[in-house]
Amino acid sequence: RLADPLVLDGNEVSITGSIGIALSLTGEKNPEDLLRDADMAMYQAKTRRLGYQIFDAKMHARALDRMRLEIDMKRAIERQQIQLHYQPIISLETGKLAGFEALARWQHDGRGTIPPARFIPLAEETGLVTPLSRSVFRQACAQVRDWRTRFSLNDDFFVSVNVSSKQLSHRDLIDQLDRILQETSLDPEYLRLEITESALAENTRVASYTLAQLRKRRIKLCLDDFGKGFSSLNYLHRFPIDVLKIDRSFVRRLSSGFSNDSGKKRPYEIIRTIVALAQILGMQVVAEGVEVSDQAAILKELGCEFGQGFLFSPALDAASASRFFDCVSRPS
Ligand code: C2E
Ligand code: CA
Ligand code: CA
Repeated sequence: RLADPLVLDGNEVSITGSIGIALSLTGEKNPEDLLRDADMAMYQAKTRRLGYQIFDAKMHARALDRMRLEIDMKRAIERQQIQLHYQPIISLETGKLAGFEALARWQHDGRGTIPPARFIPLAEETGLVTPLSRSVFRQACAQVRDWRTRFSLNDDFFVSVNVSSKQLSHRDLIDQLDRILQETSLDPEYLRLEITESALAENTRVASYTLAQLRKRRIKLCLDDFGKGFSSLNYLHRFPIDVLKIDRSFVRRLSSGFSNDSGKKRPYEIIRTIVALAQILGMQVVAEGVEVSDQAAILKELGCEFGQGFLFSPALDAASASRFFDCVSRPS
């Protein structure tokens, strides 16, 4: 019945429903428990767009696990156990360090390192994304500040920080950034933000405001994982983007000795086209996931300015990343 379209004011509209079902097969459960289980099943039906979902015991275990992780994460943010590591971004022309991408790492007491792919979505679902993002910005800005006092950095040195779709949708992102920039008295030009196309697509209205504010502060914007999703040239046109980061799936397919075999040639041509597009639009290009020197050589030949990947270095803790500055220390 829910799926049947309704006619409102002459317009046909459809609605959907999400139903959670809990069964009391043994009859020993009390109503509160059953309602809680049904609620949990409904939550699953909702987030996974399933329509309906029947509760099972595994769901309960998963929910408990998540709850524990959520409590742990809250504490970890407070105790600064979620720390930034820094992956070098290298100029392919000179082989020198151009900047770093800051990548969050959670060193969990009992569970070892928890990857961002696991805890960022959890932070987004639970509202911890705001304190997490504050902590990330604060660490990144403080780190650049520290490097600035210890090394003579190039004017165009940068650290780029990832911003998720949920973060972008928060109207106070700019206020948060302003406060932290002021607190750390960092020149905003050292900071870049990385945003994916899908994050822009999900937040076009807020994004226009936020990105205009970033531009005003001369904070550069990188379009992350470019080419991975439903790339639309529309975004390049609509938003003030400064840097394209070519998704590593294209870089992975590059191999030397490509022949006329169109299957092998295609990734090469795609990258060539992205680089040309970026050059015409006055944007920089960073290739992600550079793992072997052949890839770096091809990218350089194609005119791609910057590379990032395990060939150069994985993400390093702040102390190890500091060793990447080949510039001389400032005499104290
Ligand atoms: P991303 O922005 O695409 O980050 C690059 C990921 O590729 C990192 O994974 C990095 O370790 C990995 N990587 C680097 N070089 C290579 C390579 O040569 N080969 C391969 N196969 N992989 C390489 P990581 O650190 O696990 O981060 C995963 C994702 O989590 C990031 O993807 C980013 O979207 C997100 N993330 C990380 N830190 C933060 C953060 O502080 N805030 C937000 N919102 N998202 C974050
Ligand atoms: Ca990124
Ligand atoms: Ca990326």
